Amino acid sequence: MSEDVLDRFDSIRRFSRGGQAAPHKPLLLLYALAQLKNEGAERITFNEAEKVVDPLLRTYGSFRKTPTVAHPFVRLANDRGRFWWIEDHTKTPSGDLLISEARERNLKAGFSEDVLQAFRENPKLIDLLAINLLDRNFPPSLHADILERVGLHLGQDEFEAVLRRKRDPRFRVAVLSAYYEQCAICRYDLRLNGAPVALDAAHIKMHSAGGPDEVPNGLALCSLHHKLFDLGVLTVDPKYEILVSDHVVGEWGRRLQDSLHGKPIALPRRDTDFPAEKYLTWHKRNIFKQASVQS
Ligand SMILES: [Zn+2]
Repeated sequence: MSEDVLDRFDSIRRFSRGGQAAPHKPLLLLYALAQLKNEGAERITFNEAEKVVDPLLRTYGSFRKTPTVAHPFVRLANDRGRFWWIEDHTKTPSGDLLISEARERNLKAGFSEDVLQAFRENPKLIDLLAINLLDRNFPPSLHADILERVGLHLGQDEFEAVLRRKRDPRFRVAVLSAYYEQCAICRYDLRLNGAPVALDAAHIKMHSAGGPDEVPNGLALCSLHHKLFDLGVLTVDPKYEILVSDHVVGEWGRRLQDSLHGKPIALPRRDTDFPAEKYLTWHKRNIFKQASVQS
């Protein structure tokens, strides 16, 4: 029964065959899980969801569409997993909500009754589903931030058990060594008692999207550049040049553009360890925040 329920959410993976990034559904589901776990709320309301989830969509979403919670709020109900319920409402010709009506009536939505029943019988399913959604849709460096922003606190045991089985510690050692234990973007190489600190082995193509634990799918990045890379503020093109998203604004946005855009990364010592073009292309297409179509 538990497995069945989790399987029904598999169809909403962010990285579809077409490569279109759509984190809207997982983010709204994580918010709904937090409401259920913290408040016992089996229904979420449109106005509250808009307040919390819209800013999340701006941080973690793609910029190909104007981010609004209205899309996942209604479209989850069309998912073939049939796990979502929404109150009766007026539909636009494209099947979307009338946002003005959703706000005025403070429309309700939530998990379907049989899914709620499964959560009542086995409350640990809430954590397991949350971990699946995070793991399949977002790089690990962003998990804690997303959980904090939706207000979801997970049981440590479940969280660690799922994440631990997927990590290969040799990946970190191999990537850091290949890059002379320095950040490929800024050359940061601080050592504490001889060991590198705040330096990570980042996956270029996410593990859960099929990115392997091998050096050509890795970059040694300092903690700051790792997070900016996973957020799509930075990417590396197949000529190994850094690209900075033009969505960053303000003084620091300009500084980032001036100091990094078009600059070469620090490459590994051996060319067989160089980042592979297929992974760089995946990152640029799925994670990098490129110029928007609208918004
Ligand atoms: Zn760095």
